[in-house]
Amino acid sequence: MKFIIETYGCQMNVADSELVSSILISAGHTPVTDIDEAQAIIFNTCSVRDHAEQRVLGRIANEKHRKNTDPELKIGVIGCMAQRVGKRLMEIEPGIDFVVGVDQYQHLPSILDDSLSSEEDTLYMDPSQIYPGIMPYRQDKNCGFVTVMRGCNNFCSYCIVPYVRGRERSRPVDDIYTEVRRATEVGLRDITLLGQNVNSYQHDGYRFPDLLKKLNDIESLWRLRFVTSHPKDLSDELISAMASCTKVCEHIHLPLQAGDDQMLKKMNRSYDIDHYLGLIDKLRTAIPDIAITTDLMVGFPSETQSQFENTLRVMERIRFDYAFCFKYSEREGTVAATYKDQVPENERLRRLQTMIDLQRQITFEKFQEQIGKNVEVYVEDFSRKSQDMVSGKTRDFKIAVLSGSSDKIGGLSMAKVIDATAGTLICE
Ligand code: SF4
Repeated sequence: MKFIIETYGCQMNVADSELVSSILISAGHTPVTDIDEAQAIIFNTCSVRDHAEQRVLGRIANEKHRKNTDPELKIGVIGCMAQRVGKRLMEIEPGIDFVVGVDQYQHLPSILDDSLSSEEDTLYMDPSQIYPGIMPYRQDKNCGFVTVMRGCNNFCSYCIVPYVRGRERSRPVDDIYTEVRRATEVGLRDITLLGQNVNSYQHDGYRFPDLLKKLNDIESLWRLRFVTSHPKDLSDELISAMASCTKVCEHIHLPLQAGDDQMLKKMNRSYDIDHYLGLIDKLRTAIPDIAITTDLMVGFPSETQSQFENTLRVMERIRFDYAFCFKYSEREGTVAATYKDQVPENERLRRLQTMIDLQRQITFEKFQEQIGKNVEVYVEDFSRKSQDMVSGKTRDFKIAVLSGSSDKIGGLSMAKVIDATAGTLICE
């Protein structure tokens, strides 16, 4: 069958879509990029916020009319929402033909060729599932994701992930090494290691700093990144490995979530502000030009105005290069959803806007500080605005544009930053 996967949510889902594509291709199915050609439409979903789930249901409602002219068309849901809501989804939206959980993707070929009985449990959570021996089907030509661990043990009180992705388990280091080496050999020189809690990686005595050191030796690899890190697992050893491994880029995404100790405790984040600030100092001492990005949340239950302002103060003190700012979204089944003192929606929105405005100003200033510096750009494509310009990323994960033609694409260019907006470095 010809299939298309529409992916929502985080990079883990992007990587899982590549994995699912590989499983389906190995079974003889064919990926297409035009939905009009597809005989199976698969939605890889996210459950982190209610909004993400509603969006997918809206998309399915839009696409199911295709069954009027093509009764054989199959529509499926995989990913976190499939795991969370289960086969009840087929009652909520009767256009859905199958629902498969995050540990059961090996069943997808049999579902597409109708050889799987409808009785089969395609939602069973398998605590050991790491999908061994599957090389993901990659569409990006320059950058690639490699999943190193799955699941999470942390149970932050607002988060649905541990319930839908299960407990942490890591892949063997040799499998990861082989996958990274093969990816770089076909031109993907910028690799991001993925995990819900990537820096808690451990397998057979290997911990995350050991993994970085091992991968750093791959000659064909140019750049190595990782997301998402938990502050409690950012050890001195890891900071020192980041500083000493030349392929590891000068960037870390380190979710803070809130700048108030009481809020952090209620969120079950297992660190306080002093600990987080200490990590930032250590990172900036070991890697002076490191870019630090984060996730921040407003309107967590019982958050007062002064607790919110504490977060703003920490933002001003740390000056993140970029922050993904969210308002708290209740997720049924989590501890935080049972808290009575929910912050009203309009107040959450007001705080979110204040936070976004502050971060936008800081990000603009951070980009302006780059003017005059020399940067290394991994050129990935033409600039969206001009065919005489190319664009790519710096080692510290900023988008950069510079003049150039197709011969620059796929290579490294040294460039000087001559101007900057709040999202792009203009280079020559
Ligand atoms: S660390 Fe916390 S926020 Fe991140 S996936 Fe685990 S439970 Fe969710």
